[in-house]
Amino acid sequence: MKTLALDIGATKIAIAILDEDQNIQERLQLPSNMLSSIWQELEPILKRFAVDRIGIASAGPINLSRGSISPVNIPQWRDFPIVDLIEDLFPSKPVGLLGDGTAVALAENKLGAGIGVANMLGVVVSTGIGGGLVLNGKAFHGETGNAALFGHHSIGFNSGIACDCGRIGCLETFARGPKMVEYAINQGWSGGADFIALAQSAREGNSIALEAIDKGSLALAVGITNVLNIVDIHTVVIGGGVSFAGPIYWDPFLKHFEAERSHAGFLDHVDVYPAKLQADAGLIGASLFVREMAG
Ligand SMILES: [Zn+2]
Repeated sequence: MKTLALDIGATKIAIAILDEDQNIQERLQLPSNMLSSIWQELEPILKRFAVDRIGIASAGPINLSRGSISPVNIPQWRDFPIVDLIEDLFPSKPVGLLGDGTAVALAENKLGAGIGVANMLGVVVSTGIGGGLVLNGKAFHGETGNAALFGHHSIGFNSGIACDCGRIGCLETFARGPKMVEYAINQGWSGGADFIALAQSAREGNSIALEAIDKGSLALAVGITNVLNIVDIHTVVIGGGVSFAGPIYWDPFLKHFEAERSHAGFLDHVDVYPAKLQADAGLIGASLFVREMAG
């Protein structure tokens, strides 16, 4: 049995074929942020594959009952009927859709850093901020598929900073990689255009780069603590491109997280792990989900 998995993110769509043991046999990706018609690029690629089931992880928001997606950072796709289109390409094959944060949480819980943990929050910090929950050993989707879409909870309603979603002061307006870069540039930093350059500049001691990362990691620490305050769970797995920067990001994040969680009064023991599955977690989670769904 072969599974086709898609991981639809703000800057790229990853596509993979996985076997029953979730080994990736083939993998490719398309940019999702520079094509006039993403589907026209995607459809001929997908058509090449002969598979038994299809799992789709997408940036949110999604709509499970309609099988559609409206990723905040892919403005061309609003209520885009991805499930219907995939079903047309693969008649009578099971198609499963879930949030990308939920897919990451599920994959890390079954095969990655959170094995054996009943309850956990999975976090992706990259071009956007994704989140997903595993509760009692199962992916928790929420009623529309958007549980723990916590990149769009506001942590700064007085900030005056509008998010792409329309709200003021979303976590994403502070913590996502491009926003840390934007903050640094506005402060006079000129070391590059992306988070990899910002992280390198911080490693070399640039004070603006260090401050930008400190602020972004503080925002993530506040956001994660808010989620733990609500659901009272004690394990967090963090992945995504920003987290792969290593200690230059993790050290300030962990410092801020320790301070934030100490105020809760019940979050004395929180295990925070780096994701193990790296960039493939969303694909593996999508594959695990549709396998479970198809029975
Ligand atoms: Zn938002």
